[in-house]
Amino acid sequence: MDWNNKTIVITGASSGIGEATAARFAKEGANVVLAARREERLEEIKQRFIDSPGTVDYKPTDVTSQQQMEELISFAIDRFGQVDVLFNNAGLMPLSFLEKKKVDEWDKMIDVNIKGVLYGIGAVLPHMKERNSGHILTTSSIAGHEVMPAGAVYCGTKFAARVIMEGLGKELASTDIRTTSISPGVVDTELMDSISDDDALNMMKEGLAKSEMTPLKGEDIAEAVFYTVNQPSHVDVNEIIIRPTKQG
Ligand code: NDP
Repeated sequence: MDWNNKTIVITGASSGIGEATAARFAKEGANVVLAARREERLEEIKQRFIDSPGTVDYKPTDVTSQQQMEELISFAIDRFGQVDVLFNNAGLMPLSFLEKKKVDEWDKMIDVNIKGVLYGIGAVLPHMKERNSGHILTTSSIAGHEVMPAGAVYCGTKFAARVIMEGLGKELASTDIRTTSISPGVVDTELMDSISDDDALNMMKEGLAKSEMTPLKGEDIAEAVFYTVNQPSHVDVNEIIIRPTKQG
C-alpha cells in the first residue's frame, strides 16, 4: 500500500508502542498525527522525524475528554484532508489489589482505557462512514483475554476494549471500514511506572525476573499494526495476539 497522502492518528504516541508505531508509518511516507498529554515529548518526536519521508505533526490531547478527542480528529482532517487510520493506543496500567481500594486509579483506568477508546471511535466514525473507508485499531492486551492477580480492573478495561471493538466490527459489517484489536503480551515500555501498589509492583518484578522471556519492543507491535493495515481492502484482520515467545 502506498502511504503517501494517507493519514494515521495515534493516541498514546508520546512513548512506547505509540511512538514506535509513529516511527514505522513516518518511514513509509504517511502523515502521522501524534496525540498524548506530554507536549514536550510530542514536539521532540516531531523534530526527530522532520526529515523522514512522512509528515509528523501533533495535537496535545487528553483522551478522557470527549471534546479533545473530537478536536484531535478535526485537527487531523484540517491538516491532512482525511483520517485513514485511528490507532486508539493510549492506556494506563496502575495494577493494584482490590483490597487496597485505589479508587482514583480504578477511575483513571476506566476513563483512559475504556472511555478514551469510545471517544476516539465516536469522533472518527462519521468521517469514515461518509467516505466508507478507514481502519480503527485499539490496543487491548493479553490482559483482555486472561485475568491476573492485582489486575481485576486493568484486565476489565482491556476485556472491555476488545469487546467494544468486536461490537464495532459487527456494526460496520456492511461497510468497507475495518476494525482490529491488538493484544500484546509483555512489551518493554514505561507502562509499569504508574503502579503505586508496592505489592503489585513487586509481584510483577519477581514474575519478570523469574521468567526467561525476552520482552517485546514497541517496534514489534508497530510491525503488527503495519501488517494489519496493509492487507488488501477485502481482508479485515480483527485481532492480533502477540507475545514474547517464552511468555506463558
Ligand atoms: P507507555 O506508558 O509507554 O505509553 C502509554 C501512552 O498512553 C503514553 O503515550 C501516554 O502519554 C498515553 N496516555 C496515558 N494517559 C493518557 C491520557 N489521559 N490521554 C492521552 N494519552 C494518554 O506504555 P505502552 O506503550 O506499553 O502502552 C500503550 C498501550 O499498550 C496501552 O493501552 C497499554 O495498556 C497497552 N499494552 C501494553 C503492554 C505492555 O506490556 N507494555 C501489554 C499489553 C497492552 P502521556 O502520558 O503523554 O499522555
